[in-house]
Amino acid sequence: MLQCNCSIFADEQSREGLVIDPGDNIDEILEIVRRHGLTVKAIFITHAHIDHIGGAQKLKQATGAPVYMNSNDLELARRLDVQAAWLGIREPERVEIDTAAKEGERLLVGTAEFHVLETPGHTQGSISLWIPSEGKLIAGDTLFRDSIGRTDLPGGDGKQILRSIHTKLMPLPAETVVIPGHGPNTTIGREKESNYFLQSLR
Ligand SMILES: [Zn+2]
Repeated sequence: MLQCNCSIFADEQSREGLVIDPGDNIDEILEIVRRHGLTVKAIFITHAHIDHIGGAQKLKQATGAPVYMNSNDLELARRLDVQAAWLGIREPERVEIDTAAKEGERLLVGTAEFHVLETPGHTQGSISLWIPSEGKLIAGDTLFRDSIGRTDLPGGDGKQILRSIHTKLMPLPAETVVIPGHGPNTTIGREKESNYFLQSLR
């Protein structure tokens, strides 16, 4: 319903895969996993908003994969009932986090390293995942094409999200493809040039 982008990355050799932000449509995700014969090695949550975390428990049960999330979002993850009530939807099953995703942590999928970048601001525990060998960044709800994440929800901080983008994301190579939590892909270079919300950073 909330049109969150879920990403599935996998290594063609080892068939190891990583699922990022399984908000909903878990049957569809499992169908892709099965079709490609993948073993889900980890489930990553960029932040604990319901549209990003809602299906995590169901996917964890189906795959046995551990769930990674930054601990600063644990409180949000515990209160999915409140988030569900705001949206007028049914409360999804709460998920137990297995591993705290921290700045500097690296996860290997095949030969590709996934680097955890802490990018707080949209929520206090928001993270991004940078895959240098692929030239890609999973930005969660921190950076969008022509926009940035909203900071008016509980735990949001407008100054902090700009600092995160400025210190963690803008230094990445300009050609890095940004895969945001909602909407179309972009690149670091394009947003540096033309994102209105980042003008004050130049
Ligand atoms: Zn969000």
